[in-house]
Amino acid sequence: MKITAVHEDVIPISSAMSNAFIDFSTMDSSVVAVVSDVVRDGEPVVGYGFNSNGRYSAGEILRRRMVPRLLAADPASLLAADGQLDPSRAWDVLMRNEKPGGHGERSIAVGVLDMALFDLASKIAGQPLYRWLSDRYGDGSAPDESVFVYAAGGYYAPGKGLRELQDEMRGFLDQGYRVVKMKIGGASLAEDIRRVEAVLDVLGGDGSRLAVDVNGKFDLHTALEYGRALEPYGLFWYEEAGDPLDYRLNATLAEHYRGPIATGENLFSMQDARNLVRYGGMRPDRDYIQVDPALSYGLVEYLRVQRMLREHGWSSRRCIPHGGHQFSLHIAAALKLGGNESYPGEFQPTGGFADDAVVRDGHVGLTETPGIGLERKAAFYEVLRKLHD
Ligand code: MG
Repeated sequence: MKITAVHEDVIPISSAMSNAFIDFSTMDSSVVAVVSDVVRDGEPVVGYGFNSNGRYSAGEILRRRMVPRLLAADPASLLAADGQLDPSRAWDVLMRNEKPGGHGERSIAVGVLDMALFDLASKIAGQPLYRWLSDRYGDGSAPDESVFVYAAGGYYAPGKGLRELQDEMRGFLDQGYRVVKMKIGGASLAEDIRRVEAVLDVLGGDGSRLAVDVNGKFDLHTALEYGRALEPYGLFWYEEAGDPLDYRLNATLAEHYRGPIATGENLFSMQDARNLVRYGGMRPDRDYIQVDPALSYGLVEYLRVQRMLREHGWSSRRCIPHGGHQFSLHIAAALKLGGNESYPGEFQPTGGFADDAVVRDGHVGLTETPGIGLERKAAFYEVLRKLHD
């Protein structure tokens, strides 16, 4: 098995949404196609990758460092003992001559290629990624047949009042979601509490079905002030209250806020996630870790994150990755995570699951298409095919 070409491009995944920190009007994503010399039905088998959302494309790093290293590698150095493509060996090639630390845009470039390599490896094996992964990295039991998903929305938008917010949330429930998430921190505390209560009305007053997300905006004082105001509602979680790297803030919040806390979508390496667990006061009996494999050096690194969490006494069920994409859906099913984010209708064409995926009682099933199954997202597949056609 040989890689014959790697094609890379940047596409817009813009959206009119805003959270407490950024607007998404200029968001884009790197996309890659890794072409192999394996032929099926008269066509080469191709693996596809993209970089989730929330971070911009990493084309420069892909073009100047990562793709040339992959193409220059001895093909045999990318293979496992059974002669099949081994993404973890390819990972070592991508990271050659890269110093430790400073994770960020580089982790995104590696993540894009890592996704494509896992897509390719499982396609060559003729298996959907979640089964391929479960066979190699699972706990020995069958993978989950469906994955808990929650609907992330509740963004701020010009002219969006309480009624529009409630309509949006009702729409999520109508689509089959049970848990919804909304942004806070982009308005005053009093206004945000009015927004939270408006959404709780839609949820029959059940706070355990509502998550709130600050996107890292608060200082300690504000995080604690909001925590005091939110605690009585018994929310699903209180997400990213402070800066993602301010572990002491998080630890102090965890001492005061009794409900579940979620964070980690802006941590891009095993080492950063380990610092969160060591110093961030995260409680393995209730909190959630949201590291997004596509943004953080890919699944090869995410397997290291999982190993680290096990060693620190964490269940994989406490992980619900950020991003709302199909790659993490497979990972969640195979590694028995707690679920996966979902942004219904947003970040197109990359985001979301198969076109015919149905959410039932807050869970979505996997497809049996070999690989990640991005071919089952017609608009996105058109973009991906153009990379190599
Ligand atoms: Mg978030």
